[in-house]
Amino acid sequence: MANKLAAGNWKMNGTTAQLAEIDALHKAHPDPSVDILICPPATLLSRLSDATKDSAIATGAQDCHAHNSGAHTGDISAEMVKDAGGSYVILGHSERRTDHGETDAIVQAKTQAALDAGLIAVVCIGETEAERDAGTTLDVLGTQLAGSLPDGIDGNTVVVAYEPVWAIGTGRVPTLEQIAEAHDFMRKTLADRFGSAADDIALLYGGSVKPGNASEIFATSNVDGALVGGASLKAADFTGIITAL
Ligand code: 13P
Repeated sequence: MANKLAAGNWKMNGTTAQLAEIDALHKAHPDPSVDILICPPATLLSRLSDATKDSAIATGAQDCHAHNSGAHTGDISAEMVKDAGGSYVILGHSERRTDHGETDAIVQAKTQAALDAGLIAVVCIGETEAERDAGTTLDVLGTQLAGSLPDGIDGNTVVVAYEPVWAIGTGRVPTLEQIAEAHDFMRKTLADRFGSAADDIALLYGGSVKPGNASEIFATSNVDGALVGGASLKAADFTGIITAL
């Protein structure tokens, strides 16, 4: 069984003042029974990692480059994430796929780089609204899984997040049946490729998760946690999600 994971993706939000939320989160969860992860903007990663050193809160980045170093202005490498105290990196988020043209092949190369650096990769997949309306959701998820994940992964190295693009930041959430269908499909697809190693790969749901809907989502088949955007910015909101897990 995969560990339960409550992961916060702060996206491009937060300056120094935002670090106060981490103190509050730590105080609220001195000894959590689930894994907690916060992925701040790269500018805060080092300070946030220092601030959480003696806590159960893990930290990570929101992206990394596929190469270790070199002439790539504005990028950070997996080694740099590790050096800044991060242990995870989110890869292939739909905002990266859209804003930066990231393909499955790019996501796979970045994921391999993350694994080589000893990071846990949180690899994101999800259909657009047009793809859901066209009835191609599972085909899209299958293609993204096949293309974005390198060989030889297991639950110690990769987490997969299902984030329907139309549910991100919109307040719209799939039905529990739709979430179960996607997560059962992901589990089976991973098992077909990775065998029993797939049993331990945590499958997160992401997209408008709030304290009020977290319990029913977490009770859904093959949901091992959540990747949370807006509701991870305030410790009080994120606490409501962590305690639902
Ligand atoms: P929201 O929780 O704000 O919908 O964002 C989800 C997300 O994209 C997390 O990566």
